[in-house]
Amino acid sequence: MRVLGIESSCDETAVAIVDDGRRRLADLVLSQLTEHRPFGGVVPEIAARSHLGQLDRLIARALAQAGMKPHELDAIAATAGPGLIGGVLVGVTMGKAMALALDRPFLAINHLEGHALSARLDPGVAFPYLLLLVSGGHCQLLRVEGVGRYRRLGTTVDDAAGEAFDKGAKILGLGYPGGPAIEQAAARAKAAGIDPDAYGLPRPMLGRPGCDFSFSGLKTALRQRAQERAADGALPERDGLALALQESIAAVLADRTAHALEAAAAATPRLTALVAAGGVAANQRIRQALERVARAHDLPLVAPPSRLCTDNAAMIAWAGIERLEAGLTDSAHGDGLDFAARPRWPLDPTAPRAAGAGV
Ligand code: ATP
Ligand code: MG
Ligand code: FE
Repeated sequence: MRVLGIESSCDETAVAIVDDGRRRLADLVLSQLTEHRPFGGVVPEIAARSHLGQLDRLIARALAQAGMKPHELDAIAATAGPGLIGGVLVGVTMGKAMALALDRPFLAINHLEGHALSARLDPGVAFPYLLLLVSGGHCQLLRVEGVGRYRRLGTTVDDAAGEAFDKGAKILGLGYPGGPAIEQAAARAKAAGIDPDAYGLPRPMLGRPGCDFSFSGLKTALRQRAQERAADGALPERDGLALALQESIAAVLADRTAHALEAAAAATPRLTALVAAGGVAANQRIRQALERVARAHDLPLVAPPSRLCTDNAAMIAWAGIERLEAGLTDSAHGDGLDFAARPRWPLDPTAPRAAGAGV
């Protein structure tokens, strides 16, 4: 089975073709970085127009790379939410048009399900597992019991972890996107022997019961420290603050994940792994902190390769394959040409919405 995946929910236009043997026959990601950089963040209208301008050519390139003709595809999967609705609509409309023309099923994929199942594509992990989903718009802990079966244990009450990196980088003048820039600056500070504790940044929610997150206080504290120390002008301070920020985020993520592991450990069947997915899971320091937590619970930490952590279409095609194999693709499950794109779409619809949070 070979499925074409389309991803256009944020600022990456991506197309991939994946087969049921976990092979990525094509895996193309076009970043809109340079288009958004002058604005210091993603501009939804620019994103949507750019997806529209690139998507058809990218699909043609993906087919050429896989050496396939369109009619050799078994299904078309597209991110149908959550995300910036203009971009999502571009991908969904293209996916539906292809499905209709080729007489193949159209699969409406939840972007978060793509991230959630990405570790099953590479390196491959068995259900059930505890998932820390840390991306630009989300920060959640979920018990993943099977395809379409997600139980949310915790979420952020304000910003996502990726947002904390992005806003932190903006405050420190490190540019956009923030995650990789903070990681590099932190590495410089570490090599220079700077002590991150010297900046006294808070570690919100640390040690509190439950598994929820909060990052907005950290951002405010960082802004204050940066002003006190005039970080923009003094490079060692800027790198030091980046290191302090990364340490705080890593400590909070590890602490909340440890709580979730304790809560989830009693349930049967036993967890097979701790999985970290989403763009922030590309961060090596965070992987290291999570590795320690997993080890304390006798579990492996499984994280997809960086390329599969940040937005891509291989995870969308793969989620389509998983849904097809699980028989979850009839219209009762929301697929079909009448599916309406969703700006919000929680993975666990039974979980209460956290105050002030997204989904
Ligand atoms: P969502 O998936 O919630 O809709 P998104 O698609 O924008 O949001 P991803 O593409 O999964 O999110 O991840 C992007 C986020 O990951 C950004 O906030 C970015 O700063 C962060 N990120 C990427 N690389 C790193 C890194 N090395 N360290 C920390 N954060 C990183
Ligand atoms: Mg992105
Ligand atoms: Fe994402």
